[in-house]
Amino acid sequence: MSDGTLEVIEPATELTLDRLPRAGADDVDRAVAAAREAFPAWRALAPGDRSATLRAVADGLEREADHLIRIEARNAGKPIGDARGEIAMVIECFRYYAGAPERLLGQTIPVAGGVDMTFREPLGVVGLIVPWNFPLVISSWKVAPALAAGNTVVLKPAELTPLSAIELERIAVEAGLPAGVLNVVAGPGSICGKRLVEHPDVAKIAFTGSTEVGRGIAAGAAATIKRVTLELGGKSANVIFADADLEAAAAAAPSAVFGNAGQDCCARSRILVERSALDSFMSALEEAVRSIRVGDPLDEATEMGPLISAGQRETVSSFVSEDVPVAFRGSAPDGPGFWFPPTVLAPMSNDDRASREEIFGPVAAVIPFDGEEEAVRIANDTIYGLSGSVWSRDGERALRVARALETGVISINSNSSVRVSTPFGGFKQSGVGRELGPDALEHYTDVKNVYYAIDGS
Ligand code: NAD
Repeated sequence: MSDGTLEVIEPATELTLDRLPRAGADDVDRAVAAAREAFPAWRALAPGDRSATLRAVADGLEREADHLIRIEARNAGKPIGDARGEIAMVIECFRYYAGAPERLLGQTIPVAGGVDMTFREPLGVVGLIVPWNFPLVISSWKVAPALAAGNTVVLKPAELTPLSAIELERIAVEAGLPAGVLNVVAGPGSICGKRLVEHPDVAKIAFTGSTEVGRGIAAGAAATIKRVTLELGGKSANVIFADADLEAAAAAAPSAVFGNAGQDCCARSRILVERSALDSFMSALEEAVRSIRVGDPLDEATEMGPLISAGQRETVSSFVSEDVPVAFRGSAPDGPGFWFPPTVLAPMSNDDRASREEIFGPVAAVIPFDGEEEAVRIANDTIYGLSGSVWSRDGERALRVARALETGVISINSNSSVRVSTPFGGFKQSGVGRELGPDALEHYTDVKNVYYAIDGS
């Protein structure tokens, strides 16, 4: 039974974008039952036919790309250019994993008396819980490999951004995905998410969200020994050595922390700069930050949109109190919308609150350092370990530091973190398991070992 109305707000205008029935625990139970019923036929489908279905879903998404781009830009408040890139990645993700059903290879292992072989078996019904910052793209990182491996799915989008996930279900069914294979339930985490985690017929939870909620999910999943993949928070370091191409590093640093208005788990929100290069780096950074175009997400020229909600703006504001050193700020529109200007705090210590906690807004802390050893020590002095960058023209040092940083994803002379074909996920309290690339499939299958006796033993 639905539990009231879910009012979906457009963060750039604060107006209501849509009203939906808000799902409750009974809706989750019904979705799990439908997924359970659909599982035997979906797993039994010939691998080539499963591939063809996923390709048809990708084609359907491509046909409706403009519609999805507008939904994502309006509902999540992201610049339309960014939304376009995200929907392209969603389509690419379905195409990439469409190649997987025929490549889920097992092994044969030499043993006495017979033949030993392994199979990658689907888990059954998997529960996928996603956040509001990249609604459809993060859904696709989970849905596509889960379905490719032969599982059926219940997807719970964030309450603030349910619209694109609902459209994904419609498009997938119209493209030929059998009923019950993908079920979207739009309701609160504390009710619908919790029910998925506790449900005895759900074999696995793949979750992206905050470390705090992730801890509760890991504890809840333990009761039924569910498999879990957790993609959690981050406090990534952008380490810039004096021998780097400082202009390139300064030009790239703003989008690495202010992209998606800083609401990005990979945000390089600690900018570590070698002290001897601090002044020249800061003047180049100031120019780049002041030129960021903050405004209407539907304007093609916009580079940064609003925050997702009034609550998020309040949280972010609490990091820019009177006692922190604000080096410079960019601009933000007046009037309705949850706006917050890009803000650089400097010089900061790694012990300051803004250096330790995930802000999830457009606020960066610049922390000076002296030498390679101190850079590594500061960068690793955090509970998180998701992403990061190293900028240096000394290739040996760049690789040495990249290896020394306790983080799941790192780039040298670049701030890229995510590609469909490469693994993504965190060390330490940034998570467990990997998404994307070949690794994701391991997390949606269990290995079965079969021994076949051939000489009577
Ligand atoms: P959140 O943890 O509040 O919510 C995430 C999802 O979990 C939502 O769908 C929510 O409804 C659901 N949820 C909430 N309480 C629940 C419960 N008790 N049981 C089950 N489900 C529950 O996170 P958010 O505010 O939506 O997103 C921001 C966070 O997500 C940040 O910490 C960010 O770093 C993290 N994130 C991580 C990654 C990554 O890949 N590592 C990517 C994006 C965002």
